[in-house]
Amino acid sequence: MLQIYNTMTRRKEQFEPLEPGVVRLYSCGPTVYDVAHIGNLRTFLLSDLLVRHLRRTGVEVHNVMNITDVDDKTIEGARREGLTLREHTEKYTEYFMEDLATLRILPAWQNPRATDHIEQMHEIIAALIDKGHAYESEGSVYFDISSYPRYGRLSGSVSGADSSRDFSRLDEDEYELEDARDFALWKAAKPDEPTWDSPWGPGRPGWHIECSAMSRAYLGDTLDMHVGAVDLIFPHHENEIAQSEGATGQEFVRFWVHPEHLIVDGEKMSKSKGNFYTLRDLIERGYDPIAIRHLLMTAHYRRQLNFTLEGLDQSQQALGRLWDFVDRLEEIPADAEGEDLAEAAAEALAKFNAALGDDLNAPAAMAAVFELMHDVNAALAEGKVGHSGAAQVLAFLRDADSVLGIIEHEKGSVDADVEALMTEREQARADKNWARADEIRDELLAQGIVIEDTPTGARWRREG
Ligand SMILES: [Zn+2]
Repeated sequence: MLQIYNTMTRRKEQFEPLEPGVVRLYSCGPTVYDVAHIGNLRTFLLSDLLVRHLRRTGVEVHNVMNITDVDDKTIEGARREGLTLREHTEKYTEYFMEDLATLRILPAWQNPRATDHIEQMHEIIAALIDKGHAYESEGSVYFDISSYPRYGRLSGSVSGADSSRDFSRLDEDEYELEDARDFALWKAAKPDEPTWDSPWGPGRPGWHIECSAMSRAYLGDTLDMHVGAVDLIFPHHENEIAQSEGATGQEFVRFWVHPEHLIVDGEKMSKSKGNFYTLRDLIERGYDPIAIRHLLMTAHYRRQLNFTLEGLDQSQQALGRLWDFVDRLEEIPADAEGEDLAEAAAEALAKFNAALGDDLNAPAAMAAVFELMHDVNAALAEGKVGHSGAAQVLAFLRDADSVLGIIEHEKGSVDADVEALMTEREQARADKNWARADEIRDELLAQGIVIEDTPTGARWRREG
């Protein structure tokens, strides 16, 4: 079914769900204080691929993706916008859900909000205090790292057993490895912050406890898989393990899956560096969101992907060729005779399945699709593809698309866009606006489309 790299054991392992037929999968969802950038979206896309792949193998997937709607950032965001916390987070939750749908990321089984699960957080905190893993101080509650020698197994760099270390407490949700200290489970009320009642007085949850509570509420004590961006390994996931295992005494997560960052000019794409693109930015620049989905899958999820607009142009061209190919296959008349393509399709399917089964290798799986396209295009050019051969290839493409989500398209959508630009260019030439006419020529060329001016007017063709 699937061999996947487990960050906890640091090797690829054969995946089987604990309960046959049902996979319990949790993904750390967005903190809804702003519009997500495409670096964030890459992580959610990997989760989507994983879920689609598992479902295609015949198992049910209970995938939960939480919405972090209370933490340091959302409280600050609401203050900045002069909204209540709920108004602020609902606005960005809505944007986020729209972005997922635009990228064809399938809806999760459950999308719990942190603020709807305060009770469940209290239960875990009470259990941790009861077992000596947490302590109260001035209305806040902290996790006691020195009570938990297993702390640090996931990130492999801090140990709860290290008695020489100062684990004095800290209140921030996010901090660096060298600052590893007792972290806040419950934060005492501060002026201007939303608060909830608790056995320890009014306050609000720390960020880390939210995921321990929401995953347990929907998936139980032990999860099959937990997905999150690589920068969540420390401290977030390390803290989730300490909280969950400290409270329940059960193994929290069997497989930890951590997608790598999106990089811009050698640096991680991030809000704080200002080097980010949102999905909306790119759509406004005229890019098809499915080209963005394609681009985000062109590197294996455990490798960093360098984002460039040139790369996005190439994805758009590749998709244009693929969609064109599908349109041509679909147009082959029912009575057309041709080669039997069953073997070629079966070979592509075998490659496709092997690639996904090997640590979810999406670029290799896409290569199986594009190689088949290349071979069949050659046969098409020679008029050797009949109706049954086309049907064999289309059946494979539809099956592959249940995981990839890039092949389905509005018929003729590429051509309609090209035609619109061609008309605009004709007008520009009539107006003697040569600069605009040249600009359109270059724009189309970037999409792999060549314009030929003939005595009877301009025509276009796709290159290669
Ligand atoms: Zn989380």
